[in-house]
Amino acid sequence: MPAQLLDGKKVAQQLRERLREARATLGSRPVRLVSVEIGQNPAAAVYVRNQQRAALEVGIDMEVTNLPLGTKESELVARIGELNRRPEVAGILVQRPLPPGIDPRAVQSAIDPHKDVEGMHPANMGAILYREPLLPPCTAAAAQHLILATGLDLRGAETVVVGHSEIVGKPIAVLLLHHLSTVTVCHIGTRKLVDHTRRADILVVAVGKAGLIHGDMIKPGACVIDVGINQGADGRITGDVDFASTSPVAGYLTPVPGGVGPVTVAMLLRNTLRAAGIAI
Ligand code: NAP
Repeated sequence: MPAQLLDGKKVAQQLRERLREARATLGSRPVRLVSVEIGQNPAAAVYVRNQQRAALEVGIDMEVTNLPLGTKESELVARIGELNRRPEVAGILVQRPLPPGIDPRAVQSAIDPHKDVEGMHPANMGAILYREPLLPPCTAAAAQHLILATGLDLRGAETVVVGHSEIVGKPIAVLLLHHLSTVTVCHIGTRKLVDHTRRADILVVAVGKAGLIHGDMIKPGACVIDVGINQGADGRITGDVDFASTSPVAGYLTPVPGGVGPVTVAMLLRNTLRAAGIAI
């Protein structure tokens, strides 16, 4: 039997409906999210438009600021400082990739942690270790949400996370650890990846290498969350998991596109409402 598809678009739609209801409790008080980008990257433009559409649906005002190419780190940080001081701005989002010469950590650290709706400020990252962070990193929260949506019991489950980046792999591992699953994190130093992936009840892959994981690396019935986004030479977007060979083996599988991505955007909006003071 093919894997049950974890339809991120549907899950995100349900989330946005809940968010819209929660947002309505604030009445006419505006909730503003400001996106800051240096230059105009066409790939990012599609992403920003999707974010804007989703924000509008929830009742969040998304303001888009494009700073000129050549903007220095100090100028970007100064702009963030202005946004930190604007009381009507609930959330600040810095679009990536940032141009060479700008340190993403310095930029993220400049955002007021209470407005850090991407959940990447060191204070919010650190809060993950205390369980229930107010503003968790969006992609990690999305992966967690999709896993919980299956109704699987995470306690004692063998969970393998492939990829250990600060913004995706590591926070996912910690969030899943809080559910008392037994978490293994694989990375470039892992000796034999397949030995780990084959025993995973829950497998989360966040690397950025198309086709890294094949069906013969999966435990039958496993829940597979594919975070990867890769663009082929033909422009097609694929994940890190080979869908055709994995679908007949896995129990649950997220498609790419249409899996983790839309839920990540919904989590960004949830964080924005939380930053605006709504308990959701
Ligand atoms: P990243 O910073 O490049 O991290 C990739 C991680 O994969 C690193 O920890 C790297 O380890 C590890 N890795 C590289 N080759 C590996 C291999 N052969 N086996 C095992 N691990 C390996 O990327 P990221 O920001 O975490 O993003 C990962 C992917 O998720 C990308 O495709 C990105 O586009 C996608 N993404 C999707 C969403 C979404 O909403 N769906 C959001 C964010 C990111 P080392 O550091 O040791 O080299």
